[in-house]
Amino acid sequence: MDEAWDTAQLTDRTEEFREVLDAQNRKLRNRFMQMAAGIAPRLCPLCDYFGNFAAFGQPPRFDARCPSCASLERHRLIWLAITRQGLLDPSHRLLHFAAEGPLRKRIHKLVGQYETAELRADLFPDHILNIEAIDLPDDSFDRIICNHVLEHVDDRKALREMHRILRPGGIAILTTPLIEAWAETYENPEISNPADRFLHFGQNDHVRVFGRDLRARIIAAGFVLDEVTAKEPDVHRFGLMRGETVFIATKPGASS
Ligand SMILES: [Zn+2]
Repeated sequence: MDEAWDTAQLTDRTEEFREVLDAQNRKLRNRFMQMAAGIAPRLCPLCDYFGNFAAFGQPPRFDARCPSCASLERHRLIWLAITRQGLLDPSHRLLHFAAEGPLRKRIHKLVGQYETAELRADLFPDHILNIEAIDLPDDSFDRIICNHVLEHVDDRKALREMHRILRPGGIAILTTPLIEAWAETYENPEISNPADRFLHFGQNDHVRVFGRDLRARIIAAGFVLDEVTAKEPDVHRFGLMRGETVFIATKPGASS
């Protein structure tokens, strides 16, 4: 079976029909997301909305997006982790990579200095930064938030850079797609075009799929690791993804 499976041929074929398939799938997905009514009412901890949530994602997930503040499962989980553990306070200077609107709106009020970072200038961030080579001084932030970025970049470089710009005792709050059943991260440098990346990594701009060795990679950058995992009753109340994990990576040293 394996020998008969010609990935190159599959990729060629995918390329050939890609535009047509993409358009069809996109139409179907959008129609589904508009029609999906939600399975049960949920509570959004970010905006206190209670009611049906919208479907979101590829493939679409039911009860994923809060219709009031647009939060997704991971934003609600991160918010719960931040508020329950008291991770942010007015003495903190925080850097938010690829800042997501629903989190940004609430988080900027909790810290003394809130700054955003993007690779692209057209998003009008406070800092235009390459996370693999951050043009900011050592020991300059108390907190970093970085969601769904590590799967797009060289995570080893990015983690070392985040560690460098955090003050001792500072914390990076991290999430990324993760397959807990895989001991090892799947990477393949030969997979470099968008169609291949979609086939191998599930999205055309992802460069790997992390396994549970993500933890060792975070620790190797110098962090001490804690984590918060979505469990019941939070999952059904707040519309979280079962087992999704927020990594709370602390740079050792004096607490801040
Ligand atoms: Zn909401």
